Amino acid sequence: MWKYQAFLITLASSAALAAVDLSKFPSKTDPTKFTIPDIPQTTSLDVATECQYYQSNFTIEKSEWPTIWDIATSNNMNTSTEFTNLYNSIDWTQAPKAPVRSMTPQGGLNLVGYDTVNDPDCWWSATQCVKPKAQGTNGDISTCPEPETWGLTFDDGPNCSHNAFYDYLETNKQRASMFYIGSNVLNWPYGALRGLKDGHHLCGHTWSHKMMTTLTNQEVLAELYYTAKAIKYVTGITPLYWRPALGDLDDRVRWIGTQLNMTAILWNLDTDDWAANSTPGITPDTVNGKYLDYIKMGSNGTFAKSGNIVLSHEINNMTMDFFVDHYPAIKENYKHVVDIATCQNIAHPYLEEVITFPSFEASTSQNASTATGSGVVPGATGASSAGNTNSFNGPLFIASLFGLLLVAV
Ligand SMILES: [Zn+2]
Repeated sequence: MWKYQAFLITLASSAALAAVDLSKFPSKTDPTKFTIPDIPQTTSLDVATECQYYQSNFTIEKSEWPTIWDIATSNNMNTSTEFTNLYNSIDWTQAPKAPVRSMTPQGGLNLVGYDTVNDPDCWWSATQCVKPKAQGTNGDISTCPEPETWGLTFDDGPNCSHNAFYDYLETNKQRASMFYIGSNVLNWPYGALRGLKDGHHLCGHTWSHKMMTTLTNQEVLAELYYTAKAIKYVTGITPLYWRPALGDLDDRVRWIGTQLNMTAILWNLDTDDWAANSTPGITPDTVNGKYLDYIKMGSNGTFAKSGNIVLSHEINNMTMDFFVDHYPAIKENYKHVVDIATCQNIAHPYLEEVITFPSFEASTSQNASTATGSGVVPGATGASSAGNTNSFNGPLFIASLFGLLLVAV
């Protein structure tokens, strides 16, 4: 036992020390008090008008950011003093040794030769593994624990043409987890602010949407870091949760996220909405069929003991419309439709604890019309985060790590 205790203390302290402090990111936005300029792009429901480029109040000094939509080490970010200091603050000798993966000539991930039986790297793309094998690595969230609960998530925003969609969610007092791409946040900053204003749960979705396991350690770090920095710069909050493009992560990528205090959120139902009309064999009917199947699962006993997390997108107006079309039936067939911070009882999904999310119980025990209302309580701190073992915050993280390992022993 003493041996284990010594081991645990070493492990816990090395994991905690390895975390990078992101609290110094610059931002002029107070996330509890801000206004969104009243311009056609933020108010119009016409796609062309919404998506006209605008000069925002946020100065983007090009030399301080990666190239938009290019790998986040671009524009010499990998040799900048800021990034070099960040990179050197991490003890890379502890990093899992999973190899950098490759793509096939057809543009898919090359899975050839990977040992899917033993799954040494907990590679989700190969095995859908969500429980890391590497120590000191945050495990993924892939489901909502509460029965008959639809975990609502939208990837690839902020999309310039989302005003009608966000209005619809707001009218229905419906919060979702929004996975924002760093490049989109700098391109459409008021779109990101709208997400925060409406009380959505904002998360990172990388800078350039590459397959993360095909990137080097330096590139993975830069993708996560500059996305978090962009979200903080614009909205004033630093996300502690993120999602890899196409769910592509393994223990090496997870471990790098853990160094930034970040935990991945995946899904267990995929609408394939983005692929309609762009991938052979997937039509709008295919996507509607998937929605209908998943809706049925809410009342046929499939989710009698736990809920789901559904992957959908705000990548274009077709994908947003799929959800709007099916939302009334989702509400009818599921007891609860909630964002992931709420379903996981994560009171503080951001580094800045001035924003608190309600517990699942508090959120769903109010009357139905306000159950998923604005929910974010600016200025309220110290709310319980019981049940959240994925946060990487000091004592709570260490306590949970001990708990996990003692069970394992
Ligand atoms: Zn995506």
